[in-house]
Amino acid sequence: SPAIAVRGLTKTFGTGDGLVHAVDQVDLEVADGEFFAMLGPSGSGKTTMLRLIAGFELPTSGTVLLGGDDVTRRPPNRRDVNTVFQDYALFPHMSVAENVGYGLRVKKVGRAEAQQRVEQALATVRLEGFGGRRPTQLSGGQRQRVALARALVNRPRVLLLDEPLGALDLKLREEMQAELTAIQREVGITFVFVTHDQTEALSMSDRVAVFNHGRIEQVGPPAEVYERPATPFVAGFVGTSNLIPPDVAETLIGQRGTFSVRPEKISVVDDGYAAADHEVFAAGVVSRVQYAGATSRLEVQLDAGPLLAVLRRNDVVQSGDTGGLVGRKVRVAWARRN
Ligand code: ADP
Ligand code: MG
Repeated sequence: SPAIAVRGLTKTFGTGDGLVHAVDQVDLEVADGEFFAMLGPSGSGKTTMLRLIAGFELPTSGTVLLGGDDVTRRPPNRRDVNTVFQDYALFPHMSVAENVGYGLRVKKVGRAEAQQRVEQALATVRLEGFGGRRPTQLSGGQRQRVALARALVNRPRVLLLDEPLGALDLKLREEMQAELTAIQREVGITFVFVTHDQTEALSMSDRVAVFNHGRIEQVGPPAEVYERPATPFVAGFVGTSNLIPPDVAETLIGQRGTFSVRPEKISVVDDGYAAADHEVFAAGVVSRVQYAGATSRLEVQLDAGPLLAVLRRNDVVQSGDTGGLVGRKVRVAWARRN
């Protein structure tokens, strides 16, 4: 059975006009050993979802199964799950080793074994030799690792991480992204990782669930969610997207429906370009050029109506060419897909 299965999971807060469907009829399965990301804007229900899985919140309706067991009514300490919170929640008056070993003491694990497991957990997060320090004597990144070690020391079946890298600056964040993935591979525990950062979700996880208003709009491997967004919301939230509305699609693409095309999939081509059958070909005028080093972002006002964002790699020396593009008539082309 899957590590996690939720069925028809719903959590509402408040009543009457103030009623909020924080989590709304969610069905989801997470496989054993998976690195699973929950991605969505602030307020979309990610934290509530984690709290329901961990047992800090009781659902309004629906069920939570862990390893096939119905744990819906079980308290958090009787679920084989640990949580890493964004603010780390370390005990300031305890040493690093005491913080990490806290759960083992509660479970009355023997002293020698506890010490060995604390050392092992600290080694896993590359903090050997830091056991004697206080949390206040550590950097933000190191505190994050202590919180992770504390959550791993019980060897739970599932680890829930709620925006664990949110408090770190960009460089450290990128380092920890790579380390978290490596640690997950090493320990083989199912990770459920919450983030509002789409790059983080796409680069770290085996699968991503995209949340919006308490519902999951799409679940799948990163490339699938990015390349084939299931809804306009997913297309817009995960990466940048040009949405072609149905009436324009009918003219340009020959099919009705809302289409999404990524800026980097569009080429600016010559007037005389012979478009292939599988390509969409359209005329327009460049209305704006933004230079960004490796790339330039063009805005092309299509004769057919929409304003397209086009990403162009600056891979050739184009002296003065980018500025001169504004106001110029161009053609754009991209591959059609079904
Ligand atoms: P996220 O983690 O994606 O930002 P949350 O799960 O924290 O989203 O919140 C989802 C929605 O539920 C929001 O509208 C939030 O205001 C509401 N909510 C969350 N917790 C509570 C609560 N304890 N009481 C009332 N409303 C809540
Ligand atoms: Mg949250």
